[in-house]
Amino acid sequence: MSLILFDEAKPRVEDERPVNEASHGHGGKRNARSRLWQHPFEPLIVVPYRVAAAIAVMEMGISEYSVIADAVGLTIEEVERVDLVEDPAVRRLALARIPVGESFKLSRRVRCPKCQARVRLVPCIGCRSC
Ligand SMILES: [Zn+2]
Repeated sequence: MSLILFDEAKPRVEDERPVNEASHGHGGKRNARSRLWQHPFEPLIVVPYRVAAAIAVMEMGISEYSVIADAVGLTIEEVERVDLVEDPAVRRLALARIPVGESFKLSRRVRCPKCQARVRLVPCIGCRSC
């Protein structure tokens, strides 16, 4: 009996399969939808990839929640929560900013407010190189 109970408690095996994109140490957890992103220089900053992407889009100067939500695959409410920086990790990231060299792939293109290019990777590479 006790053996069965023990056996039932055991199989909490996280299947951590390596994720190709964003392999900064902690690549992904479980599936792509909930995968996490870790700041390369601030190990305490770990947020969902989409949240980091949303911040990157905001840093480009895009402030329309619906546009950001579409681009990164969050709901408008989730984008609003990111913008309100209620989460401590989000707050740290907003202060630390997205590091140079880091880029996020969007599910939908956005128009860069500076160079008007429609970009799928944020921050806008074109603008960043100037
Ligand atoms: Zn640009």
